[in-house]
Amino acid sequence: MGGTICSGSTRPAANQRSSLPTERPALPYKTRRGRQGGSRPRNRRRRTADPNRLLTMPPAADLGRALCVITGASRGFGRAVALDLCRLVRPGSALVLVARSGADLRAVRAQLTESEAGRTGLKVELVEADVGKEESLEKIERKSREVFNDEMEKIIVINNAASLGDVSKFVTGFTDLAEVDAYLSLNVSSAMCLTARLLQAFPPRAGLRRCVINVSSLCALKPFRSWSLYCSGKAARDMMFKVLAEEEPELRVLSYSPGPLDTGMQVEARTKTADPSIKKTFSNMFAQGQLLTCEASSAKLMKLLLEDKFTSGDHVDVFDV
Ligand code: NAP
Repeated sequence: MGGTICSGSTRPAANQRSSLPTERPALPYKTRRGRQGGSRPRNRRRRTADPNRLLTMPPAADLGRALCVITGASRGFGRAVALDLCRLVRPGSALVLVARSGADLRAVRAQLTESEAGRTGLKVELVEADVGKEESLEKIERKSREVFNDEMEKIIVINNAASLGDVSKFVTGFTDLAEVDAYLSLNVSSAMCLTARLLQAFPPRAGLRRCVINVSSLCALKPFRSWSLYCSGKAARDMMFKVLAEEEPELRVLSYSPGPLDTGMQVEARTKTADPSIKKTFSNMFAQGQLLTCEASSAKLMKLLLEDKFTSGDHVDVFDV
């Protein structure tokens, strides 16, 4: 299910206009009744970076000739990241896009192919797979090995696929071990095992830079009522990637929190959340236009990758870029 893109190139996405709101939304950390799991006191909200700063950046370097593996690339944030990486890698690179929906993956590949962003010789490989299954991890590893060649100078793994879990009940509602295990298997174990497989497949060598991104969340740091599965999974992932950064000093590891994004996951958040104040918070954010576009958040991630100045293992929030 591969494809090669043969159109011309455009400027890096990191130089494109960002539609990021100027400030970190007050919600969902606070409601009229007070803070909701956040530790930041009232009236002390930190000023955030000017979102238009990207416009004045000098033209960024590219990401080199790279193998990029992106899970959850069929829609939402993963799709935006795939489109940006396509613009930023050099000819001779390869993208391995993973998701369960083959139709959506093919639509993303068509968009890459049609877009002026494509570059001669960029391979786009699709892996239709449920990352929660062992055989899927094998498929992803196999496809990655197939498209890798010794002229590639970088490997970028984007652990993006995730699920929100059942947010319609509180911790006391989770009596079923299998349900909790299944959630953690998809959202924690699979990211760990896929990353481990790919790092084993492509061990350190001179001239090869290896980078692993964990798509994280504010929920890795702060408790949201009725989001116990999601918060636990994101917190566990952050710590796992911190340990990895300690163990592999040559590796670049980043937990990137993309902010509240206008995606399918947000629809679930505002329709299914059990806690009324959290639910209202997300509905208000949507109604007040406080959600970020995937494109704007992805541009921030690209900036981090291009500058490559983050401390390996750190959790970086979109509003701090
Ligand atoms: P989304 O719109 O729900 O997309 C999720 C992506 O993951 C889809 O491409 C989906 O594709 C894929 N996926 C889900 N389960 C999978 C499985 N079992 N195997 C393979 N692929 C699977 O979510 P999103 O909002 O873009 O979220 C992307 C990342 O950002 C996630 O890690 C999320 O936790 C994080 N995040 C999101 C928000 C937000 O507000 N949306 C905020 C903070 C962090 P298929 O269905 O085709 O498999």
